[in-house]
Amino acid sequence: MHGGNNPGRIRNVLGGAQSESDRHFFEDINPATGEVVALVEEATREDVDRAVTAARAALKGPWGKLTQDERARALNRIADGIEVRFDDFLKAEILDTGKPVTMASHLDIPRGAANFRAFAELPKHHSGEFFQMKAPDGGDAFNYSLRSPRGVIAVICPWNLPLLLMTWKVAPALACGNTVVVKPSEETPATATLLAEVMRDAGIPDGVYNVVNGYGPGSAGQFLTEHPGVDGITFTGETRTGEAIMAAAAKGVRPVSFELGGKNAGLVFADCDLDKALDQTVRAVFMNAGQVCLQTERLFVERPIFERFVEGLAARARQQKPGDPFDKTTSLGPLISDEHLKKVTGYYGKAQAAGAEVVIGGGTIRMTDEFAGGHWIEPTIWTGLSDESEIMREEIFGPCVHISPFDGEDEAIARANASEYGLASMLWTQDLSRAHRVAAQLETGITWVNSWFLRDLRTPFGGMKHSGIGREGGVHGLEFYTELRNVCVKI
Ligand code: NAD
Repeated sequence: MHGGNNPGRIRNVLGGAQSESDRHFFEDINPATGEVVALVEEATREDVDRAVTAARAALKGPWGKLTQDERARALNRIADGIEVRFDDFLKAEILDTGKPVTMASHLDIPRGAANFRAFAELPKHHSGEFFQMKAPDGGDAFNYSLRSPRGVIAVICPWNLPLLLMTWKVAPALACGNTVVVKPSEETPATATLLAEVMRDAGIPDGVYNVVNGYGPGSAGQFLTEHPGVDGITFTGETRTGEAIMAAAAKGVRPVSFELGGKNAGLVFADCDLDKALDQTVRAVFMNAGQVCLQTERLFVERPIFERFVEGLAARARQQKPGDPFDKTTSLGPLISDEHLKKVTGYYGKAQAAGAEVVIGGGTIRMTDEFAGGHWIEPTIWTGLSDESEIMREEIFGPCVHISPFDGEDEAIARANASEYGLASMLWTQDLSRAHRVAAQLETGITWVNSWFLRDLRTPFGGMKHSGIGREGGVHGLEFYTELRNVCVKI
């Protein structure tokens, strides 16, 4: 037992102020057990207003007067603080998400700290533009560019990688001198509030980092995105939610940066290193119980190795071990919620109704003892469906994949690209020319060749088509987190 029977309370962070105590509280559930981990204060419209007002005031306060070096040091202190409280973050993230400790301790929490370190120096390494010109009177003039913070940034986050994806936005926002109001997912609010404690201990002034908890429509998400005091909205989540947020942002013409859904394809050519391809594909399909936006849900395998590949992946999938997320031998966690379990099992049913061959899985997992109330589902592999089926077109976000054979490079590319999404793709081949040729034709924001989820934080990250707007990562985040201005000087 790691949750305890006495749930704590998670409160909003509104500048230095506390909201009143008679607020509505909602339940934060541990998806591995179904137990209540904490009671979370749902922010009202007034709370959101207080948070945005505090964020605006902080822009003009000591935070806005820091030099770039001082801000970089502040971000590094935040990273230090996450590392010092590593175990607190780890426990909070596992209780909220049910993800295995091996994943959270190697990916989620270290990346939370790494995001602050990676972006700390960011604005210092970007030079501006300079153009000399002749004015009509023959005199000289020159132009230079300036970047200023965009202002108050609303950060709306999903539940699948809560700390990692939130800090991926908060770190560049703060590095560029902005202030933020964060709306964590209602499913996973804990680490956002813990981060507020780290910020305070790191000497970050009140109002720079605010947290409002609640749901989307009719709750904190909607109140925040509609608030006229917000200067920009960065959002990671479902494409449909992105459409609603974009409509809210239209009022006041506020810019958005969106990282949305995917239906990612993997292309496996017969000349690949099969063992390596299988070892990485099992991660690409089943990591975090398939609840990763970059996850591969469509695999296309060249016909000569199709049978061997399906057997190899099934053998590896059978080794996925559900169990206590705090146990280092557990590799498969639960789905995030009962609602999500219903959605994913709905697709499992649709696959069978459409005539899929179920190679492995296809049902839920009946756990015992404290885990009997969790949302457990079997790793699942299908073959035999057409590219037009719902299973091949819609994002499922579970531990499942469909594998189809293909007969040539052009066919594989066309089928991979036949999606309204364009987030990520991976391809496996030992032919260098083919790797570059195919990568250039795949319509996705990121393509992994002979790897998956290998991330360099300096690179552009984002999706094409319905998978996003804009790019975050490295200097690319500067486009959203700063206003680029021109100064023209007549001499
Ligand atoms: P979601 O869209 O349901 O919710 C995300 C956040 O938006 C939550 O905090 C939610 O409360 C809030 N929200 C919902 N409706 C809102 C509204 N009308 N106004 C304002 N806020 C609102 O997404 P999710 O279920 O939390 O996450 C899973 C989705 O996220 C998947 O589609 C996945 O592909 C996507 N995702 C994308 C990336 C990426 O980098 N592209 C990364 C992770 C997850």
